[in-house]
Amino acid sequence: MKIAFIGLGNMGEPMASNLANAGYEVYAYDVMKQKTISAEKKGCIKKESLKSAVKGVDFVVTMLPEGRHVKEAYLTKEGIVNNASPGTILIECSTIDVETTKKVGEVALCKDLFMIDCPVSGGTSGAVNSTLTFMVGGNSETLKLSLPLLNVMGKKIVHMGELGSGQAAKACNNMLLGISMIALGEAFTLADKLGLDQKKLFQISSEGSGMSWAMLNHLPVSGIVDTAASNNNFKAGFAAHMMLKDLTLALSAADSTNFKCPIGSLTKSLYEKFVKSGGGSLDYSAIIKLINGTHK
Ligand code: NAD
Repeated sequence: MKIAFIGLGNMGEPMASNLANAGYEVYAYDVMKQKTISAEKKGCIKKESLKSAVKGVDFVVTMLPEGRHVKEAYLTKEGIVNNASPGTILIECSTIDVETTKKVGEVALCKDLFMIDCPVSGGTSGAVNSTLTFMVGGNSETLKLSLPLLNVMGKKIVHMGELGSGQAAKACNNMLLGISMIALGEAFTLADKLGLDQKKLFQISSEGSGMSWAMLNHLPVSGIVDTAASNNNFKAGFAAHMMLKDLTLALSAADSTNFKCPIGSLTKSLYEKFVKSGGGSLDYSAIIKLINGTHK
């Protein structure tokens, strides 16, 4: 079984490597050559162009930053839709807007290419450890054929509905994650100002009513949670500019239903301020620096 894996960043590289380690022939391509070389060291087969990566494969998996990158990778002359063989299954894992997802899926279908949207949650540790959750939109037969691959890369797969509904679910989930991170930053900063030991607050809250996934995995205070970017000067696992992108997607989806999200909107404005003032490439948990006043 041959798979083209396109987009070998923080998430894509470990996902591609897990597929290769499971015995699939994985053709790896990224616009940044260095990423392709690095994926080769992790068991993938390096490809010099998108066109050559997708030629004759059974599946294409994409893990790209934004909708514009997805359009470019799928719809240009040298791209996936014009070069994959009819019958190929396209597993689009990037977090992007519903509209682009539907458009790309429809164009692909005209060429007998079958796409599902499969955005993920679980972060880079989930990508490394194959514990991602996939939120899937699209045809159930296409999902059934994709399950062996998804089961290699993740541990939970939920079929949300028609094409685009995976993205809609992801928008809701990540708005919740962004809000949780602001709440964590605020509570742990307050604890510090009140003279509390933040480790002891974690001891209480991590097993109590204040607990959240963000707290257990991405605590913005260093020295408490092993997997947290705060231990590593906020080197990004999930960059703050990516969180801003996701909040923008969630709020524009909310707008389309005339539903107001006051806390989501406030969260977005804080990330906007952080990104504008130079924090965009730091981990999203670095927002605590804006909250506690240590961000220059
Ligand atoms: P990243 O920026 O680390 O990686 C994206 C890669 O795509 C880069 O290496 C880039 O060079 C490559 N790329 C861009 N355009 C391309 C093209 N046309 N063809 C081939 N390669 C191209 O981003 P990431 O953190 O891996 O995130 C990828 C997606 O997953 C995003 O949509 C993000 O929102 C989502 N996501 C990320 C996380 C996380 O924790 N990082 C968690 C869940 C979902």
